Amino acid sequence: MPRLIPILLYHQIDIPPVRSAPFRSFTVHPDAFRRQMNWLKRLGYRGLSLREAMPYIRGEKTGKVAAITFDDGFLNVYEKALPVLQEHGFTATNFFVANQVGGRNAWDIPFGVAPAPCMSATHLREWAALGHEVGSHTLDHVHLPQVPFEEAIKQIAQSREKLQDIIGEAVTSFCYPYGDENADMRKLARDAGYDYATTTTRRRAGKGDDPFGLPRLTIRCKHTWLHFLKKCLTR
Ligand SMILES: [Zn+2]
Repeated sequence: MPRLIPILLYHQIDIPPVRSAPFRSFTVHPDAFRRQMNWLKRLGYRGLSLREAMPYIRGEKTGKVAAITFDDGFLNVYEKALPVLQEHGFTATNFFVANQVGGRNAWDIPFGVAPAPCMSATHLREWAALGHEVGSHTLDHVHLPQVPFEEAIKQIAQSREKLQDIIGEAVTSFCYPYGDENADMRKLARDAGYDYATTTTRRRAGKGDDPFGLPRLTIRCKHTWLHFLKKCLTR
């Protein structure tokens, strides 16, 4: 039976904010992130970008693989996760909000989330040059099914062009903000030239999955290493 592949989903890698802060659970402590990568390595897993993990998800290749993805392109991922990935020889995908490259999490701030800087164009180029994947997360982090259709087309297609212009290579992966998508949005992503797209459906990925509806496992700050492993290996 082909192996199911965990696609891990992280947001920020930093010291988590105070307990009462909104969406606090989306910030994973750098020490916890390092321990999680250590566990993967110890168990013989290779951490790969989605691009590199796709042949395993499709069942064309076999091996112990976990895909590592980050949403939103935060600078703290560059500062605190990238060195850990490099040490472990792992690659990862980061899904960038194209209009906030060099900006900040403007879409989160109205909901009380603390402002956090996003990676700049220079960071993106370095991320890509080290073999990590640059994916698109729209222009402005919108709820795609809720905006006018023309706007959804623009958010999906123009973000791809913008990111490709920055890094000078093809962008093939897409991520629906808030995991908010439907059949029309999957078609738009395909039409815009992406090869696959991720959602927030919670389970491991495999051959039977629509490449434009890939499930992922969210790693939260409260997860212990045991909880992390259970998620990766059994969900
Ligand atoms: Zn996001």
